[in-house]
Amino acid sequence: MLANSVLIIDDDPTQVAILDAYFKSQKVKNVKGTSNASDALAYINSKKNEINLIVSDLQMPEMDGLEFLRHLSSLDYEGKIAIISGVKSDLLDHSARLAKMHHLNLIGQVSKPVTKSSLDKVFYKGDYSHLAVEQTEKYFINQNDFSNAMKNDEIEPCYQPKVDVQTGRIIGAEALVRWVKPNVGLISPEVLINFAENNGRIEELTFYLFNKILKSTAEFLTVDPLQVFATNLSPIMARNLALPDQLLSRINKHGMKAENFSFEVTENNILHLDATTLEVLSRLRIFEFDVAIDDFGTGSSNIQTLRDFPYSELKIDRSFVSNATSNVFSEETVRAAVSLARERNMKVVAEGIENIETFDFIKAQGIDYAQGYLFSKALKHEDYLAFIKQNSDGFRVEKTSSAA
Ligand code: C2E
Ligand code: MG
Ligand code: MG
Repeated sequence: MLANSVLIIDDDPTQVAILDAYFKSQKVKNVKGTSNASDALAYINSKKNEINLIVSDLQMPEMDGLEFLRHLSSLDYEGKIAIISGVKSDLLDHSARLAKMHHLNLIGQVSKPVTKSSLDKVFYKGDYSHLAVEQTEKYFINQNDFSNAMKNDEIEPCYQPKVDVQTGRIIGAEALVRWVKPNVGLISPEVLINFAENNGRIEELTFYLFNKILKSTAEFLTVDPLQVFATNLSPIMARNLALPDQLLSRINKHGMKAENFSFEVTENNILHLDATTLEVLSRLRIFEFDVAIDDFGTGSSNIQTLRDFPYSELKIDRSFVSNATSNVFSEETVRAAVSLARERNMKVVAEGIENIETFDFIKAQGIDYAQGYLFSKALKHEDYLAFIKQNSDGFRVEKTSSAA
């Protein structure tokens, strides 16, 4: 457990929302955000024994971060502190030294724009095992297990339906990796992908999955030839110039066309804004694939990235979507993402729709497509086939209960 109670101080509400979503996704029980350093100090004074971690911006209008650190030291706060800032890194270093001089328990510093992995680095010191514990009780993947899992067909894609928000039509699905290891259980997809990325095996895993996705898609298209199937691509893959041709030739070999496939690229700090990546993503678009920026809001994805990369679709991260009706920062982030996407003529997908209230909210925002447990979890091949047959005249939200 990272911490029980976290306080975020930043004058930029979007940053507060991003950090709030990050800590909630890490299962922190109490996350409080404020844009005002004086309010924060009063709050800390009243709750100093309960707060374990303070994450503070360095530049705030009415009290700068350095002054804040000084006040904090006089409050005898004993928890951890991390500083986050858009200032040049040498100033960040000086501030870090200052915090140490004040005898504050400074655990790290992160430059803006924050990314999930730069936050993970500070809060977990690069140890990702916390992600595995949840579902797999401390299961650690090794190279042999991974090879055997593919050889024995233990790893397979499952399909989570995407729904047209206005009409209820099932427009296709996102393929999500599932590895149920005998005698262990479900290995968290994030842990699996992380392992593959860090051990030079992501390409192998992606093509292994893509071959299965192609076979399934051929059958799904016999039921509805207009559906589109999304495959997740690690940013590492986007550095392989041959990738677009490799994908298209496999699709053509199966007698299918690019228009039935799309790709989702997760933004994190391994996605470099370099010429190679730009060429790969642009060629995918030229081949008429849709290319989505995934988990928008959590990574380094920002206005700049949207401007510089040829995305056709924006997927708002589920941490914002699922909190949009209860948390004003999340709601603002969703609205901001929609207007950004509109300016760039991108389609917008909201993931993590779990109840009718959230569905009504995203419908009112004019969001194009939705994905979430309200419609369905990711389904095995046969179950997805049954699902699209059952809902061939559109999915009707009203008929389901919120707990679907
Ligand atoms: P993602 O691409 O953003 O996928 C959406 C995640 O949200 C999936 O988690 C899905 O099961 C979950 N989800 C969907 N609707 C809901 C909902 O209503 N409520 C909640 N609580 N969760 C919902 P999953 O399958 O655990 O995958 C996690 C991440 O792992 C994916 O996030 C993606 O980044 C990565 N991933 C999964 N499969 C692949 C893959 O084949 N290749 C690569 N490179 N990454 C993958
Ligand atoms: Mg995705
Ligand atoms: Mg996502």
